[in-house]
Amino acid sequence: MYENILRHPGPTPIPKKVQLAMNRDIFSHRSTEFVELYRETIELVKPIFGTKQEILLLPSGGTAALEAAAVNTVAAGEEVVVITVGAFGDYFVSICEQYGFHVHKLEKQWGQACTAQELREFLQPLQHIKAVFITYNETSTGILNPIAELAQVVREESDALLIVDGVSCIGGAPAEMDAWGVDILVTGSQKALMLPPGLSLVSVSERAWQVIEENQAPSYYLNLASYRSWAEKGMTPNTPAITLIYGLHEVCTLIEAEGGFAKTVARHELMKNMVRSAMKALNIDLLTTDEYASPTITAIMAPAGIALGDFLTHLKQQYHLDFAGGLGHLQGQMFRFGHMGYCFPSDVLQAVSLMEAALQDFSYDFEPGAGVRAAHEVFLTAQRK
Ligand SMILES: *Cc1c(COP(=O)(O)O)cnc(C)c1O
Repeated sequence: MYENILRHPGPTPIPKKVQLAMNRDIFSHRSTEFVELYRETIELVKPIFGTKQEILLLPSGGTAALEAAAVNTVAAGEEVVVITVGAFGDYFVSICEQYGFHVHKLEKQWGQACTAQELREFLQPLQHIKAVFITYNETSTGILNPIAELAQVVREESDALLIVDGVSCIGGAPAEMDAWGVDILVTGSQKALMLPPGLSLVSVSERAWQVIEENQAPSYYLNLASYRSWAEKGMTPNTPAITLIYGLHEVCTLIEAEGGFAKTVARHELMKNMVRSAMKALNIDLLTTDEYASPTITAIMAPAGIALGDFLTHLKQQYHLDFAGGLGHLQGQMFRFGHMGYCFPSDVLQAVSLMEAALQDFSYDFEPGAGVRAAHEVFLTAQRK
């Protein structure tokens, strides 16, 4: 009878209205109906990226879009900086290495963000950096890197492009691509955009297009220039994920109905604060400090004395609450509470309350109700404003 309560940092639950919107007949991607859908959808997505530039739609996971950003801008042997603060930053390193870029890796301990000062010191001795790659929201640790500040440093210290992986936060975190000076911003469908997997979005600045035009992208399917020329006609080079584009159109409509994107961002900020307060009230440690904490995923350490694997299995089997485990060396030490996209303060209260039930089952020493009360207090305070 119970449905699984999916609280992963992707894939994430899909709103009923979005599911219904996708339950439509397919039409040809060369039809006037498609052109209209495509053009309308792109216009609706732009505020979520904070851009007036073209946004390209790839029929792919987020990784292919990251690969497209890399292979279209940098050639083998050229120098890049990759900032990595966790597992997804490391994937960006792997993509760059795969294509033979000369990678300078700015690596931070898991749970920390990269600061403007650190990036400045790292960039200063370097001369020929073609691009700086960074993860906006590190999904493995729940860290939101300060992209606005880092973008400014990149501009001041280099001529490099700034290429940002926004896969696990665009749609839930603030994004001002144009104002911040981000050159390529990438995201995927199945995280904060509350769609099924299979669609990715890439926005490219004028500066980046100039670089792309000079670069002989050694990829046929991921050739962004080709996407751009088809986008001028309201189409994509090959068959797009038509169904997901219906869904994306509906997602944008839902975000408008929430009161605009700023409201959606505020809801994510509120959920972050609710989760963090609840864990503090339960004396459960968080991996990160509040300063750079992600609005879409919170990394929570294993409650003292509890075998985490057993706890997560119990939560899922007994209470149908499905959290994601830790990645890399943090596996077994922490878990990840996804609160993005189709997730509301009421869902956070539900999850915290079920967590308390499981904590009780594991004889964890705490004051029953303390976590829910703390989260609820944050919620009530926000409602009073
Ligand atoms: C999920 C994720 C990806 C990979 O996206 P896929 O759709 O699985 O290819 C890349 N970067 C970040 C930050 C992610 O969270």
